[in-house]
Amino acid sequence: MVKFRVWNWLFRARELKKENDMKNVYPDVDYGRDLTKNITPNFKYGEFVASEKAMEYGIKNIPNEQEWQNIEFVVKTILQPLRDKLGIPLTVNSGFRNNELNIKAGGSPASFHRLGCAVDVDTHEIPLVKLLEAAHELPEWSEIIAEYFPGGWVHIAHKKGDNRKMLKLKDNKHNFAKVTLEYIKNIYK
Ligand SMILES: [Zn+2]
Repeated sequence: MVKFRVWNWLFRARELKKENDMKNVYPDVDYGRDLTKNITPNFKYGEFVASEKAMEYGIKNIPNEQEWQNIEFVVKTILQPLRDKLGIPLTVNSGFRNNELNIKAGGSPASFHRLGCAVDVDTHEIPLVKLLEAAHELPEWSEIIAEYFPGGWVHIAHKKGDNRKMLKLKDNKHNFAKVTLEYIKNIYK
């Protein structure tokens, strides 16, 4: 019974995140995709354009066709495989950010978010270092950043044809420093 309640609560928490995502998009604007539809079994289009900051500043965070294809690619090659491998819900904190939103978010002009190729992923069910390790094991990716561990999020980017596998650490001491997986695991084990 307790187990059922816990699962029910987790399911509800996940649903609430998705409902909030739909509050953080413009209901009457054509985004180029149906935001309520799924890209893959566990991820909906709305999750990758929803942004509290965009709503706050009146920014319409709408990907163009190429950017939508980049989002679909990262979901199909990174997020869904990661979700299947770990078997736990993953929360998308930030996906696509158009130029205006990227500036407001303080992102680098060359940010993969700007192209729809990056996602900031979070989970409360396992330590972030475990999530990072699982992402690191995926066969193809462009960039993974451990951001503000242990409480922050994992930034994962995959651009078609770019498998440079650049692992970085961003915290108070390491500003996007290039590191090894062992280095991160030693700090955050
Ligand atoms: Zn990011």
